[in-house]
Amino acid sequence: ERPQSGRQGAPKQAVEQAETPLDIVFVSAEVAPWSKTGGLGDVVGSLPIALAARGHRVMVVAPRYMNGKSDALYAGAFDTGCRVPLDMGACGIQEVAFFHQHSDGVDWVFVDHPSYHRAGNPYQDENGVFGDNQFRYALLSLAACEAPLQLNIGGFRSGTPPGFPYGDKVVFVANDWHAGLVPSYIAGKYRRAGVYKDARCIFAIHNLSHQGVEPAATFGNFGLPEDWYDPLSWEYPSWASINGPAVNILKGALVASDRIVTVSQGYAWEITTPEGGWGLHGVLQARQHVLNGITNGVDTAEWDPATDAHTPAPFSANDLRGKADCKAALQKELGFQVNHEVPLIGWIGRLDHQKGPDITLEAVPGLAARGCQFVMLGSGDAEYENAMRAAEAEHPASFRGWVGFSVPVAHRIIAGCDILLMPSRFEPCGLNQLFAMRYGTIPIAHATGGLRDTIQDYSPYASEPAEKGTGWTFSPPEAAAMLRAVDAALETRWHRPDDWQAIMRNGMTADLSWNRAALQYEQIFNWALMDAP
Ligand code: ADP
Repeated sequence: ERPQSGRQGAPKQAVEQAETPLDIVFVSAEVAPWSKTGGLGDVVGSLPIALAARGHRVMVVAPRYMNGKSDALYAGAFDTGCRVPLDMGACGIQEVAFFHQHSDGVDWVFVDHPSYHRAGNPYQDENGVFGDNQFRYALLSLAACEAPLQLNIGGFRSGTPPGFPYGDKVVFVANDWHAGLVPSYIAGKYRRAGVYKDARCIFAIHNLSHQGVEPAATFGNFGLPEDWYDPLSWEYPSWASINGPAVNILKGALVASDRIVTVSQGYAWEITTPEGGWGLHGVLQARQHVLNGITNGVDTAEWDPATDAHTPAPFSANDLRGKADCKAALQKELGFQVNHEVPLIGWIGRLDHQKGPDITLEAVPGLAARGCQFVMLGSGDAEYENAMRAAEAEHPASFRGWVGFSVPVAHRIIAGCDILLMPSRFEPCGLNQLFAMRYGTIPIAHATGGLRDTIQDYSPYASEPAEKGTGWTFSPPEAAAMLRAVDAALETRWHRPDDWQAIMRNGMTADLSWNRAALQYEQIFNWALMDAP
């Protein structure tokens, strides 16, 4: 049984089958519902299921985090008995174990090692980021290279006898810097030994701002051949002046992978510019011919207003009455005046500079002055957490600062609000605007990356309701610009209620399914297989 996926009750829709079924191996530091700090976990928890539904054999390799809090989630994954000693160079021989669960058509593989047994989230605890993350994720990457060779779990696709390994003709999808050594291990280590000659590596960028940069001396901890240093070597002028030469795992992945994917077309372009490239725009420009953007989908079973177990009333595009009930219940839960006429606005996210929590908090008085109720859910940077508490003390009738990470609360906010704010400074794809649209909650977002790709600006002149748009975008990422967009939205809500309804319905009926994205990934895999490695 897959824990907490909420998918068991979902209707199984017939999905068209892929012409050429492939063997696909995802590698990721996070996979929902077992581990998730953000969109990466969502994607790796959903896209593999959509690909498996199309007939591919799909494995996902992630760490088995025993953090004391979510250990029970792993109860359905059993020890395969397989133990593999991994040569981590200067870090010695490290033995890993593999746990396995087959559900939703996917082989979920969890790598077990003492370094994954820690309180906190995958990357940090209350004392800060773990100092050995480079080692922990190099280990994950090497373990993932062994999984298709060593684990006798390849029997679940019909026609394959049980108890066989996937073998070495697979397509790896390595996600973010944590899995960024997979392409290097494949090209620099295995292929030289005659293994994985027909394999391909896709590197998927969910966020370019984290790259896994450490002093050059740590290269010896990877167990890579010495002559593989160049792909990983990196000189940031600002970093190098203090720390000397560096190895950059993400840069190595960009160089050594067969193709590169990122989570929206807008972001695929932005990362090739000096403004959005985080020092890697030159490397990305050189590989632009194999760089594509694919917009994330939504887990439409988890995020369905008609069946959502976290919300008080079901609704759909054809019958929005339940949404009013969700709004009233949320107003009550938050201690706000229960009044359908009062605009209820939400914000959800990591309290990180990227997401613009400071911009959001700066807008609190402006939103209060406009007669809005506003709820902000987030956790992260303590400075912002305190600022949220202070803003709530100052505006008790109109602002709630909900400090914490809660999926049920996120669902209730997405369902109950009229508007969702997303002033992210940059946003590779962004999921909350997609969830919001599914629930008839209108997004107002900074025009960047995936937000600009997925939100179609309101057009008052369109004659067809379907062409009225799905929300508002604004720029620059500042409170004043955001409040101007809020004014435009409220004006529409008051004076053109039919248009407001059309915007809600357009979002609710958009095709945000993972099946669309799965088809596009399949195309990338096939292109990679057509090219020589
Ligand atoms: P990122 O990956 O940069 O954090 P995304 O928009 O891609 O941003 O994904 C964020 C995911 O994390 C969404 O599923 C969002 O609902 C969820 N999330 C973020 N903060 C919270 C929180 N405090 N409580 C519950 N869910 C959260």
